[in-house]
Amino acid sequence: MLPRIDHVIEKVKLYNPSSDSRLLQRAYLFSAYAHEGQTRVSGEPYLVHPVAVCDILADLKADDIAIVSGLLHDVVEDNLSVSLQEIQRRFGPEVSHIVDGVTKIEEKVPLQSREEREWATLRKVVLAMVDDIRVVLVKLADRLHNLRTMQALPEHRRPTKALETLQIYAPIAYRLGMGKIKTELEDLGFRYAYPEEYARLAQALQEKRAYSDNFIEETQAEIRKALSGISVEGRVHGRVKHLYSIWQKLKHQGIGVEHVYDYMAFRILVGSVKDCYAVLGVVHSLWKPIPGRFKDFIAIPKENHYRSLHTSVIGPSGHPFEIQIRTERMHEEAENGLAAHWQYKEGRLSQKDQSETTQWLHQLLEWKQEGQGDTEFIQNLKVDLYPKEVYVFTPKGQVLSFPRGATPIDFAYSIHTEVGHRCVGAKLNNKLVPLKTPMKSGDVVEIITNPSGRPSRDWLKAAVTGRALSKIKAWLNVQEKARAVELGKALLDREVKRQKTTLKEAQDSGLLAEALKKASLPDLDSLHAEIGYGKLSAKVFARKLVERGEEPAAVPAKVAAPDPRQPALVVRGASDLLTTLARCCNPIRGDEVVGFISRGRGLVVHRADCPNITRHAYNPDRIMEVHWDGKEAGSPGHEVHVTIQTEDKAGIVAAITQVVADSKAPIRHIDGTVTDKGEGLVRLSLLIKDKSHLNQIISRISQIQGILAIRRSNR
Ligand code: MN
Repeated sequence: MLPRIDHVIEKVKLYNPSSDSRLLQRAYLFSAYAHEGQTRVSGEPYLVHPVAVCDILADLKADDIAIVSGLLHDVVEDNLSVSLQEIQRRFGPEVSHIVDGVTKIEEKVPLQSREEREWATLRKVVLAMVDDIRVVLVKLADRLHNLRTMQALPEHRRPTKALETLQIYAPIAYRLGMGKIKTELEDLGFRYAYPEEYARLAQALQEKRAYSDNFIEETQAEIRKALSGISVEGRVHGRVKHLYSIWQKLKHQGIGVEHVYDYMAFRILVGSVKDCYAVLGVVHSLWKPIPGRFKDFIAIPKENHYRSLHTSVIGPSGHPFEIQIRTERMHEEAENGLAAHWQYKEGRLSQKDQSETTQWLHQLLEWKQEGQGDTEFIQNLKVDLYPKEVYVFTPKGQVLSFPRGATPIDFAYSIHTEVGHRCVGAKLNNKLVPLKTPMKSGDVVEIITNPSGRPSRDWLKAAVTGRALSKIKAWLNVQEKARAVELGKALLDREVKRQKTTLKEAQDSGLLAEALKKASLPDLDSLHAEIGYGKLSAKVFARKLVERGEEPAAVPAKVAAPDPRQPALVVRGASDLLTTLARCCNPIRGDEVVGFISRGRGLVVHRADCPNITRHAYNPDRIMEVHWDGKEAGSPGHEVHVTIQTEDKAGIVAAITQVVADSKAPIRHIDGTVTDKGEGLVRLSLLIKDKSHLNQIISRISQIQGILAIRRSNR
């Protein structure tokens, strides 16, 4: 149904009894006169648009000046016979000022890239907002109605406006705490900017519709029952989350729509803060909460002053869902934000009005008054509007943006793949930091490369950008193949020797070709790779090279004693191409070690007494003898973890770190707690050269007064 002006006027009267209905009527007539004969792309009379915009403004409880400006917001742009002077003469300077502001935002800027144009628009929006917040209210209402009716636009004209909405208007609405408008702008923006993705996701959710309707119904009932159980009155509302937020999550986690489970959310609105926490307790007793997902935005509100309790729990089907708990008042503020208690006195911020919702605007105003340069202003804005991104600088001052949590590894790969592969260290603001340190906005990032540097599997945990992750994975795959081939060759040679034959002999007799054919392998290289990846047993294959036609005997079910005549593989260290050191027992140079042929990871070196190895002893075929090579561990050495039990005594941690520093073992991590028994517990991670180095440190620490126990730990 099309909104009519008398409905809007009635709506305004409800929240603003002193509204001047005649003024609104007059503005409507003037707008009708100015837009006369104009139609929208849909064929409707143009006037439908300004009236619909005012209907949205009335929902935001806007004042008369804003409503009048909404009615007139397009007259200057669309009808050249109306001037700003005329608007000022008829409706006063405030209205003409707002109309001018809205019109200027729409003016095209002749700039090159879409990004540049968007920043220019953002800057105009923000400056207008600081001047008079109502400019942005009108603009948001205008954009919302345009998107609601975007179906009428030809397809090729949709994405530009839709992207601009996602990039600029939705974040502004979010920052002003206007959750309801932000959500609708995002869903519509998503629908028209990424029509295919939108359709796919909407379809996937539609298919789950019967299930989700039923689930929401049942869960609501269960929550209501629980509320009455603790005599708390509240409203419960379940829903499928908005599509854009689901899509963002899927993208972030890199999963396809078929795996979307976490898409339902419930909202519980109660009377008091006390009730919020009481309800939280009840909810957590009904369903198991997911660790790390509880957020108390009541104690610590978000930067846009959003307040609520959030938690995620595991439902009866094993799928998670989200629950938000807040008071009715917090809800009203979350939905309409600034508009919820904005006085619109003069549309400007009085210096006295330091209410929480206007703090951000005050800050913007300050930046502007401080005469900050454009770059700096935009820089600050970006940080504020896009809290999920960080902006960092190259040493030459170029700005690069990354998702929050990105590390210098991401930075290095964004410059060049080779820079990524060869990076060995990084400086943030001229200070050396570990490569996995998350970057913060404003950091100056410098990458240190070394021709012998190369990626490590750990980087997959430290990098967050798709580019870095895919480059690292590709490199590791190539290396792993090479490593598997090298390892497979060593294993096969050993077994062939054990069978008292040679590959040359097997080749001449034709047995090699036959065995390869049977295993469907094209050549020796692929055979080596299969063995190295642990997919094929070197022992079984070697037997085939001497026992024509016979099936190999079953593998003996006891641990074979290492054969002293067999050559053991040599472990060179942590960064060995041929071997990896097991994480479970973290062996260091000097430990007694064994090798275990692991599927996909090649030869993994464990401590000989590692429980994971004793468990695998039933398959001696996959265990092999290894020993450390004679050389010293290179830098950075082995990281080991040590747990120390102490008396709860001042200065003891300082004494420990002093000993460690004297022993030249760099500390990677240290933390301490006091246990229930009143003992201190210090956890230490050190880089050490070898086992005797570690033993020396342990013995020196245990001599410190107040040390109760010290042991090497796995984590
Ligand atoms: Mn408009």
